[in-house]
Parts: sequence; structure tokens; C-alpha cells
Amino acid sequence: MDSEIAIAPHDPLPLSHELDENGFPIGSSSTDDDDDGDYEGYGDGDGEGRDVEDAAIADESSDAVSTFAADFYGSGTDWSSLVAAEEEGRKEKKGGLVQRSLLQMWGIKKPKEYEEGSGGMARNLGRKRRRSAMGGEEHVDRVDRRKGQEMKLDRPRVCPFYKKIPGTPFTVDAFRYGQIEGCLGYFLSHFHHDHYGGLSKRWSHGPIYCSSLTARLLKMCLSVNSLYICPLELDTEYDIEGVKVTMLDANHCPGAAVIHFRLSDGRTYLHTGDFRACKLMHSHPLLLNHRINVLYLDTTYLNPKYRFPPKEDVVDFVVKKTHNCLKKQPRTLVVVGAYSIGKENVYLAISQSLEVPIYANASRRRILQSFGWPELSGRLCSSGQSSPLHVLPLSFLRHENLKEYLKTLNKRFTAILAFRPTGWTFSESTGNQLDLIKPSTKGNVTIYGVPYSEHSSFTELRDFVKFLRPEKIIPTVNIGNAASRDKMQAYIREWLKV
Ligand SMILES: [Zn+2]
Repeated sequence: MDSEIAIAPHDPLPLSHELDENGFPIGSSSTDDDDDGDYEGYGDGDGEGRDVEDAAIADESSDAVSTFAADFYGSGTDWSSLVAAEEEGRKEKKGGLVQRSLLQMWGIKKPKEYEEGSGGMARNLGRKRRRSAMGGEEHVDRVDRRKGQEMKLDRPRVCPFYKKIPGTPFTVDAFRYGQIEGCLGYFLSHFHHDHYGGLSKRWSHGPIYCSSLTARLLKMCLSVNSLYICPLELDTEYDIEGVKVTMLDANHCPGAAVIHFRLSDGRTYLHTGDFRACKLMHSHPLLLNHRINVLYLDTTYLNPKYRFPPKEDVVDFVVKKTHNCLKKQPRTLVVVGAYSIGKENVYLAISQSLEVPIYANASRRRILQSFGWPELSGRLCSSGQSSPLHVLPLSFLRHENLKEYLKTLNKRFTAILAFRPTGWTFSESTGNQLDLIKPSTKGNVTIYGVPYSEHSSFTELRDFVKFLRPEKIIPTVNIGNAASRDKMQAYIREWLKV
């Protein structure tokens, strides 16, 4: 594809093509915690709830702390799950839900710096770091706490290998590292913060290739200079720097793409970004009967405990619960939690079924309207009083917040029924029997955690890998410690057995 930006010819990124069994370049240790501590989303990460900057600080400071745990705890409370109180052995709260972080559920110890009363150093440093990142600087302030004192280690962040596509001058979702040597094309898989982090109006390091919807969001939300934005249509092959590139629908959030690279020597790489694998992908002409050499895989839920139901089943459940509730209490406000983008089909289905408009604040409305989906745009309204269906940030959906929110609506509503749609709410004991999900109720606020995921379930990952049978798989999520990587690779090995 012709770029408007003049770029001097350059050699491909100097990368090793030889990868070990864990998908790491030969010569680096596959058991050490790798690179920069900058690991992609721990779940429906999807940006807003996660604070990767804090995570990297925690990683640097570690004394015998798992970087994965540190990263997780640095990510903020959105990464928690509501689990049934009974599972926690708290019989007195039977029927209720309690908040547990994923790592607590997995039995991984909370790093010291994130314990209550630890002096808040990690949090303070996090703020320092965020400002740095917001400023688009290439150097970050790191702090060595092993010496018991703050000591700035001002050095550039290094782009980890798994964000570089070997044999090409391309990177994927690598905007936090400033100018990457040899990179002539910065691909963005989708518009979630843990992937676009580092992009701002000051971006000037090279062309950004993304879907056209993502391109619109880059301009609108981040004021990225249009000169650097190169929108690509889905299912269209482009020739970029001598590499054939095609973006496929990732079945994740609007505009999310799986990126297919075919090099001139025939090698083929597939980077899933964040995706939810589905049968439709199995019939895509680029994937059907074409060997993929390396698959960069969104392994968010590569754990057999995450066998959550199809999205459609969860949407049906949400709609049914809403109807039942409104029958009993017609003046109930229905709230759906969402990231800045994603989960649209949950509130759209409620809106269609109840025949009511969707209230969202001005900035969300602007984003949703930019999708160019008439069915959604036509249902948006600007007055919270005039719709019983509101979309609010997922992180806002807590009892105390919703209780206060209800008060602001001048007694128009008497109760709130809220849904937190994320795969992290999936519980093995409930499985696919959605009717077993117990809400958390306090006063007139009821919150349902529903396993609506825009990432692949364990079984969908398995089916996708078995279908694709790539030569090599590089996990891109949950790779912050060796144990986690080894566990995932054990499953992958099993799936790829002849
Ligand atoms: Zn995402």
C-alpha cells in the first residue's frame, strides 16, 4: 500500500527466526521472566481497567515477587471476579457474591508493594510513570527498591520480541517504546488501551496500520496526526514494504483485527491481537489449507477452567433477566458496564428487546456514533432521565457507586439492575448453566456478573489451534512468568500432537 509518508528503505528487523519450545528466541532463557515486564492484557483487559505502567514498575522492583502477580496487582481492581459466597466458604452470605481477584482465586500471593498500608510507593511511582507515558517520552523513570531507596534508572524501554514480526520491518501493538529501530510499520490490532498505549497526538515514529474503524478512533480520541494513520480495509490484501498484509475480523471489539502477514519467501505469520475464535474463522480462505508458520496467540483464557458459553447465550440470559426484573419492578434502571469500546451487543440486545433508547454520556456517544452502525447510533439518547437503560464504565459498577448514581436520577427509578459482562466472572461451578448465576444484591442495587467474553474460551482456543496447526505458537498474554508460560505450552503441545 502506498504510504503518504516517505520512508527510506531499510533492512528488516534484526530478529532471530529460531524460537524455542516456549516461543522465545533461542539464546534467551525461556524460564526467566522476560523483557520489559510489559505484558499484554490480563483478561478483558481491554484497556481501561489496567495500568500497565504500574505493572512495569512493580516488575523492576521485584524481590522474589512473581512479575505476573506484580503485574496483575498493578492492574487495578477491574481484574477481579465476583464469585459465589458459598465457594468462599462464607455460608453466612449465602446467595451473595464476593469480590476476589483472579490471582487470589489461583492462589498466587499478592506482592508486598500492593498490600494495604505498604506506603503507597508503588501507586505513587505509578502516577509518575503514567505522566511520563502520557507525554510520549521514550525514557521512563524506574526505581530500584532493592537498595531500599529510590534511584532513577532512566533508560529506554525495549520492545519485547513477541511484538516484532520476524523477517519484516513491522511491529504489532508496540507504541510504548518510542521509535523502534528498523520498524517501518507500526500495526495496531484494536483500540483498547493496553494495545494502543503510547500513541498520542505527538506520535511521529512511523506509519500506523490499523482497520478503518480503529483509524477513526485514533483521530477522534487521541488526535493522532492523520499523516501517520494508514487505514486498511478488512479482508483486503495490501503490499506493504514487500509483505502481503491482510486484516481479518477478530470478533473482539469494533474494529479489532487479526493480522495476516505473508512474506516474499512464503513464510506466513498470524497475529491475533485480542480475538474470540469462532467457526467462521475456520472457513476463511487465508486460513483454510494455508500453513501458518508462527501464530501470535491471544492466550487470555488459555486455562481449562474458562469454558464459558457463547456470547449469544449470555445475551439471551441478560435479556431474560431484565424482562423478569422489570415485570416485578417496572421502575428499575438497567445498567450495563462496558469498556470505552466493546460489549455493545449486550446493551443493544436489551434496547431492542425492551424497545427503549440507550443512554450513554457524550464522549461514549461520540465513540459509538463513529462506528457507523445505524442500528446502534439510532438508539442513543442524551438524557439519563429518558431511558431506563444506561451504559456506564465497567469499573464503576460497584454497589456504593450505583447507589449514589440512583440518587442523581431524581427518583425516576427506584432500583438498579446492573450487568458486568466479562469472561472473568465465569465460575466453573456455574459452567454454562447461566440460570445458576447468583447476583449480588445490596438494598435496591443488584449486580450480575455475566461471562460475556470478547476473548476466546479455552475450548475455542483449542479448536482454533487444532484447526490451524501452526508450526509455532507465541502466546501474547499471561506470559509474565515461566510457570504460566510452561502451563500454556503444555496444552498447546497436546493440541498439536499428530
Ligand atoms: Zn482488547
